[in-house]
Amino acid sequence: MTEQTGDRRAFMTAAAASSLLPVVSTEGRQVAAEGKEQPEEFWRDRMQAPDDGKKFGWFVDTRRCFGCHACEVSCKAENDVPLGNYIRQTFYKDVGAYPKVARVFMPMSCQHCEDAPCIKACPCGALHKAAGGTVAIDYNTCCGHGTCVEVCPYGALYLDPVAKQAVKCHNCYHRTEAGMEPACVPTCPSEALHFGDLNDPESGVNQAMRAAVEAEGELQQIRPEKQTRPRMWFAGPAPVEVENHLPREGESYNPEAYNIYNWAQSEKAEAPVAGESRSAGGGGA
Ligand code: SF4
Repeated sequence: MTEQTGDRRAFMTAAAASSLLPVVSTEGRQVAAEGKEQPEEFWRDRMQAPDDGKKFGWFVDTRRCFGCHACEVSCKAENDVPLGNYIRQTFYKDVGAYPKVARVFMPMSCQHCEDAPCIKACPCGALHKAAGGTVAIDYNTCCGHGTCVEVCPYGALYLDPVAKQAVKCHNCYHRTEAGMEPACVPTCPSEALHFGDLNDPESGVNQAMRAAVEAEGELQQIRPEKQTRPRMWFAGPAPVEVENHLPREGESYNPEAYNIYNWAQSEKAEAPVAGESRSAGGGGA
């Protein structure tokens, strides 16, 4: 099993120079997706995190997010995410009735699931648990079948249009292994994003979660019925309001979330709620 995540930028630079980038047809992707979950003996070892004593997790305080999309921009800059693709995206929705209308925001990214369906389905064995239980991709192994995209219940992966490989949040492993936080965390001006070691009772993420529980009660997770045991918790009203607009299996974050014509479509798709103004989308980079 590969415990280290292959460096995507280094890989792409070297591969582009030597024309080694794999080319995978759409047909190949469809065939792979039909199989979905691989036999357990194929993914069991890769589902085990290295024994480093750490358990990385996230807390997203949607009460503090005001939709500036700085997290998306810093993520794109940090990870060379091309135009039209996203590792993270902030969704939103207008709730209430005029003149008492409010917009709620929901920053989303990979949930770093304990029981990650992407790892179970990956046919080339590239997806695995890395430091602190981070769900990561080995770019020396990823063949770009896209089966991970087909099974992720949160739309958290995309296929790089040039490298033809899967891309997702990897907790900025190049930063965390140097003792830094993922790029989005210190960029967020409202301290809505918290990341850290859940095994450390005094870590910032644990302290923020305790404060939110005291103020709000139980925290929420997205689509718990999928039984993926996400390592991301949310406070505030956004998860309930926005859940219906988050991408699902076979989808990825995409610029269509910004299309104002989709706002009208989403209003039609949802059952009209008397006296309630509803629009939803994403925004940013
Ligand atoms: Fe895999 Fe999706 Fe879960 Fe992330 S959210 S670990 S990409 S299944």
